[in-house]
Amino acid sequence: MALKLADYKTSVHNDWCPGCGDFGILNAVQMALSDMQIPLHRATIFSGIGCSGKTPHFIHTYGIHTLHGRVLPFAQGAKLSNPDLEVLAVGGDGDGLGIGAGHFVSSGRRNVDMVYIIFNNAVYGLTKGQAAPTLKLGMKTKSLSQPNMNNSVNPIALALIAGFTFIGRGYSYDVRHLKDLIKKAIEHKGLAFLDVLQPCPTYNDINTKEWYQGQDNVNPENGKQMTRMYKLEDTGYDGVVHESYEMNTKVAQAIEKSNEWGGKIPLGIFYKNEHIPTYQERIAARIPNYMESPPAKQEISDQNDKSTAKLDKLLDDLRADK
Ligand code: SF4
Ligand code: MG
Repeated sequence: MALKLADYKTSVHNDWCPGCGDFGILNAVQMALSDMQIPLHRATIFSGIGCSGKTPHFIHTYGIHTLHGRVLPFAQGAKLSNPDLEVLAVGGDGDGLGIGAGHFVSSGRRNVDMVYIIFNNAVYGLTKGQAAPTLKLGMKTKSLSQPNMNNSVNPIALALIAGFTFIGRGYSYDVRHLKDLIKKAIEHKGLAFLDVLQPCPTYNDINTKEWYQGQDNVNPENGKQMTRMYKLEDTGYDGVVHESYEMNTKVAQAIEKSNEWGGKIPLGIFYKNEHIPTYQERIAARIPNYMESPPAKQEISDQNDKSTAKLDKLLDDLRADK
């Protein structure tokens, strides 16, 4: 029987602030899973710590609310233990690009076939709005006593340089576009990263919904308000590496696009490259039976729940230095 959108929801109380962009991202994830009819037992959502860390509680799949900045190691471990899972990792910009920055870069080197979504609101919302790594230099949100003294991280450029093989950006209030991006990220063979712009109406009074919609971004010629965001796909931009030799050109093109901010903010797919082997493929090249017999599929008990685990054999089978 077909799964309905409601099947992906839980009845867990949600205490995100009214108007929080997190709601749009949650809806988009649920819609993507439902559109793709991913069985509930085959989807797994991992989160770090922060407002966004609560996301797995609201999605009726398996999920683990992990540690601050550590969502990627957990999620990669699950995918490598059971490659049949659809693994999504979620977290805030503070979680993923502050304390988790080392894991972010290391993950790009591995290219595990999964999706990582950053809820990017430029503040640490859960702890009262401190400046997070994506807050621009000199910005003073209402929760800061002085303007931000640090320069900001560009998540798209960092992901590109680290080696992520699918990189896109969505906006939490454009739920349908974001849903389509999440579906494409799930379909991608390799590590996909989505930077999702997410207004935090409680602590970030600069990058608000009205700011993104261009309330103060007036066309001098006709006096009309212009939305800041535009879709790369509407401009003929093509971020796909069709042949391996195109890689450097496409990376450079995506970095240039990632630096657009302020009056014009691009959304969509910046870069996609399926010519890089996934980590699962790299393991399978050394351990031929890995995909048929990964760690999570080892029999560990008989019909009477009596342990039959043979750890020596399991470890021997998975040895990469044989
Ligand atoms: Fe959302 Fe900000 Fe409230 Fe957190 S503090 S729930 S990010 S509005
Ligand atoms: Mg944040």
